[in-house]
Amino acid sequence: MLAPVTSATAAASVGAVPQDRLMDRADDDVAMTEMVETPGGPWKGIVRSVDGRGSDGSRGLPPVSSMTVSGPDGADLTFGPLINEKAVPAAVHVLGVPDPMNFGFCPICGSTENLTREHVPQRDLGGTVMTYTCKPCNNGLGSRIEEELRHWFDDAIFDVRFSGGDVPGKRRSPRILLRTDTEGRVGMILDVGRTDPNLDAMLTSGTGEIRYRIPNPRVWRMAALKHAYLGACLALGEVPNTELAAAVRGVLVASRDGDRGELPPEIGLTSGLRVAQSHQPAHGPTIVLATLVDAEGGVLDWGLSFAGTLFVSWPLDVELLQQAIDRFGAPDPAA
Ligand SMILES: [Zn+2]
Repeated sequence: MLAPVTSATAAASVGAVPQDRLMDRADDDVAMTEMVETPGGPWKGIVRSVDGRGSDGSRGLPPVSSMTVSGPDGADLTFGPLINEKAVPAAVHVLGVPDPMNFGFCPICGSTENLTREHVPQRDLGGTVMTYTCKPCNNGLGSRIEEELRHWFDDAIFDVRFSGGDVPGKRRSPRILLRTDTEGRVGMILDVGRTDPNLDAMLTSGTGEIRYRIPNPRVWRMAALKHAYLGACLALGEVPNTELAAAVRGVLVASRDGDRGELPPEIGLTSGLRVAQSHQPAHGPTIVLATLVDAEGGVLDWGLSFAGTLFVSWPLDVELLQQAIDRFGAPDPAA
């Protein structure tokens, strides 16, 4: 199937974004400028196969998860997910499967007005309607933080501008998906979207400058906290009233109500969370109370697995975790 997801301008770029910056970054690193070399111009080819979100209506994968492109010389170039050297193989062990639930009020801010259907996790990541939140918490908070979680999830850089060659000024491109080819090289794949007609000329000039932003951990981790908090409420079958739960609600509401462009608060509640992705299409129940186990079966973490695509640590009190585990009568995973 041909890709609706990419123009296949697989610019075989030298010196793309170092991977560790995508995984583990300081906040002031989010806006960057780098030289980009494209000897001979962007690498272009015919998409032979592509696997990803939207190519067949599937969700839970990045828009391009893997892709094979045939170049003008007939040779194939195959890209897979961006390789993260720090990644540890892990599996999810199911402790319980929470049902969707309407609490009758917004579990984030407590409002009883304008309750709307809330996807947990967000739809792109394979979420389905699991609960109801008020409109500001659903749409307002969602649009402020969930887009950046999507960029993180997709290994994308965004707000991209190129300059170079004889073309004056900076020219916008769609966001760029970073992928690793079979030889371990990082390639840049332009996502769908409006591309400046001069971009080709710029890249063909051989060298230029690229400015872009990388997903800010303060933002995308807040979205992960939102999903984990709602998942925890569903696993508990109630909205808990501990100090920690109130603190989580407080930072989510503060992120919702802050000035546009203002970063969510930097807090231990989000930086301490383990957020992991599976690079699998959405599968299984939408929310699972789970342990994350390593290859030897040792428990790495307790938390919530979402649609088989995303894992986030349990965001609330340990006592509440035990209460949720007991609710499902799961055997002690450590036993
Ligand atoms: Zn609300």
